[in-house]
Amino acid sequence: MSKDYQEAIKGLEKLLSEKGELKAVAAAKVDQIKAELSTASSGTKPFDAVERIKEGFITFKKEKYETKPALYGELAKGQSPKQYMVFACSDSRVCPSHVLDMQPGEAFVVRNVANMVPQFDQVKYAGVGAAVEYAVLHLKVENIVVIGHSACGGIKGLMSFPFDGTTSTKWMCSDFIEDWVSIGIPAKKKVLSDNGSAAFGDQCTTCEKEAVNVSLANLLTYPFVRDGLSKKTLKLYGGYYDFVNGGFELWSLEYGLSPPISVKDVATILHWKLY
Ligand SMILES: [Zn+2]
Repeated sequence: MSKDYQEAIKGLEKLLSEKGELKAVAAAKVDQIKAELSTASSGTKPFDAVERIKEGFITFKKEKYETKPALYGELAKGQSPKQYMVFACSDSRVCPSHVLDMQPGEAFVVRNVANMVPQFDQVKYAGVGAAVEYAVLHLKVENIVVIGHSACGGIKGLMSFPFDGTTSTKWMCSDFIEDWVSIGIPAKKKVLSDNGSAAFGDQCTTCEKEAVNVSLANLLTYPFVRDGLSKKTLKLYGGYYDFVNGGFELWSLEYGLSPPISVKDVATILHWKLY
C-alpha cells in the first residue's frame, strides 16, 4: 500500500515538473496523498472541524442534556440567571463556565478581548451596553463579576501599543484591537507609574488585575448599575484566574456613588485568594 502511494506521488511530481498548467491540481493531489499516507501509517484521523462539532454535541447531549431533563426543561421555558453577570476574556483557556463550574442558566456571560467593560457609550460600545442593560434591568442579576486572567494577550497588547498615533512594530496591523484595549489605558498608566522599573511580564500581570478595576469603575458610568448599587440590589466584583499556578482571586472595592463617581480602590472591602 505504502509503495503504491509512493509511486503515485512520484508520478504526480513528474507531471508537476512537465506540465506547468497542472501545477496547482497536481500539488493538491500530492498533499492529499501525503495526508492519507501519514494517516495510514500513524493510524490517526486528520482533524475534521465539522466532525468535531458533531461529536461534541453528541457527547453533550448524551452525557448532560439527556441526564438532566429537569434542568433543561426549566431552561426551555426561559433564563433567569439572577445571581451573575460575568465578563471574561475571549481567551480559549478561561471559559468561566468551566473555571467556576457554572451550569447552563447560571450566568449571563459576555466575553471579549481582555474582558473589558467600556464606559457608557451608546454609539461606540452599544454591544456591551446592551448586555449590561439586559442583565441589570431585565434579568435583574445581583452580581457583576469581571474576571481577568494570567498571560492575557489583550493586556499584553495594551502594555505594548504606544497609543501615540504610530503603530508599534509588533502589532503591525490593528483595525480593532488597539482601539479596543485602549479602554484599559488608565490601568496601564497606573502600572507604569507604580511599577515602572518592573520587568515587562510582571507589569502585564499587574495590569491584568488593574484593568479589571478600570472595568469596575467603568461600570459605574451606567446609570442602571449605579442605581442598583445605591439600592443594594447589585454588587460588583473583580476576579482573576491564574491558570499558570491554578489559582483564583475575588475582590470587591468601595464605591463613591455621589459625584464624582469613583472606585475607591484603596479601600478593598473583600479579597480572597484560592491556590
Ligand atoms: Zn485575555
